[in-house]
Amino acid sequence: QKDEWAKLKNEPTFTKDKEQVELAANIGTPEDIEGVLNNGGEGVGLYRTEFLYMGKNVLPTEDEQYDAYKSVLEQMGDKPVVVRTLDIGGDKELNYLDLPKELNPFLGFRAIRFCLENEDIFRTQLRALLRASVHGNLKIMFPMIATLEEFRQAKAIFLDEKEALQKEDVKVSDHIEVGIMVEIPSTAVTAKQFAKEVDFFSIGTNDLIQYTMAADRMNERVSYLYQPYHPAILNLVNNVIEAAHHEGKWVGMCGEMAGDPIAIPILLGLGLDEFSMSATSILPARTQISNLSKEKLASYKDTFLSMGTAEEIEAFIKEKTE
Ligand code: PEP
Ligand code: MG
Repeated sequence: QKDEWAKLKNEPTFTKDKEQVELAANIGTPEDIEGVLNNGGEGVGLYRTEFLYMGKNVLPTEDEQYDAYKSVLEQMGDKPVVVRTLDIGGDKELNYLDLPKELNPFLGFRAIRFCLENEDIFRTQLRALLRASVHGNLKIMFPMIATLEEFRQAKAIFLDEKEALQKEDVKVSDHIEVGIMVEIPSTAVTAKQFAKEVDFFSIGTNDLIQYTMAADRMNERVSYLYQPYHPAILNLVNNVIEAAHHEGKWVGMCGEMAGDPIAIPILLGLGLDEFSMSATSILPARTQISNLSKEKLASYKDTFLSMGTAEEIEAFIKEKTE
């Protein structure tokens, strides 16, 4: 099996019926890139930048951030790198910011909500990203977007910093795609409206599942409700993909679900374009996908989307892909 994986290391990812998808990796630091390349990653689908801000006592400077982003982009060459702007708050604490304790941190002041109110911190990160953009194929995405206003506001700040840098004669790329994470049900439901304005979507199922099922992703007592194959989740995913494709935009997934061998055939059938997972899952996923027919899986779509339970859908897909 290892031999089969190794053969596919430097190959693009094709289904049995010659449909191409992209297999990317989730990373937390520039040091992770070696593992991404060694495992045949075709890109970075999620760079969780919060690690730059955690485990220390001060905010990272613009230059520190620039160095990290540049390193990731340079190591990846012309391969796409999706950088997520700061997703702090909630369960991810920063002791030096002294944020008040909240009753429901997962529903609280975090991620883009925090960045739009702490614009200086947000602008510093965007400037570092813009400056680094000339060193590779950068895409930027905003986390925890719940409304179109939030996206518009964040994008406007991005464009404002871009213009400011250009006025200072700093070189920035003109091809930076700006997208959002879809991890809040309001956004998954209104994907059609978002699709007209964003360049891409990346579905964050870790949070999308907890918010859709109202089941805390850290709470063992309710983990039975944490169901990736629940028809509610799959219908939301389908809605996002259909809306995006209607506008000619691409859709990735960077939650754990994207690397799950049971979810992969389902997601292929729904038309997902990019799968972002831990680096070690990439070669097994590429091997699995090379044995699957996208057309056949797509023909099951209406059937599994109308099933009543996660268990039924799981059994159905297992039977069809045996
Ligand atoms: C997600 O919510 O699916 C995601 C990828 O983000 P995180 O796990 O960092 O919240
Ligand atoms: Mg998330």
